[in-house]
Amino acid sequence: MGMIQTLTCPSCHESWEIATGQGILHSTLDRVLKVFPQDTQMEIRKEVQGQLIPVFHFHYSMAACSRCKNMVAVPVIHIPESGHTYTSLCPQCGTSANLEIFDEDAVPACPRCGEGHLTVEDTGRWD
Ligand SMILES: [Zn+2]
Ligand SMILES: [Zn+2]
Repeated sequence: MGMIQTLTCPSCHESWEIATGQGILHSTLDRVLKVFPQDTQMEIRKEVQGQLIPVFHFHYSMAACSRCKNMVAVPVIHIPESGHTYTSLCPQCGTSANLEIFDEDAVPACPRCGEGHLTVEDTGRWD
């Protein structure tokens, strides 16, 4: 089940709406891999090679991008067999080096002004 979360900064009043969690569409590895860059796809395929039904955990995580200064939802996949976790790119600016991934119940600092701590509100669901 995916959640729509609205993040608001009490300091600069910037707000973002992001879709976190996972939807029904993400139940097969083939569909999940589409949201990762080509080289990550190849690495993941190598890791699950030989598994009849690949085991993976996938969800969109709340993240802050320090490059474009946005709060975003970033695809994250974990392969239990290898213990590796792969993170996709920032959907706003297409880079991955500047992402900070947050837990579901984290209270991130505002990436825009760096002053306020964002209020996180669950405002809907998606699947
Ligand atoms: Zn702010
Ligand atoms: Zn970005």
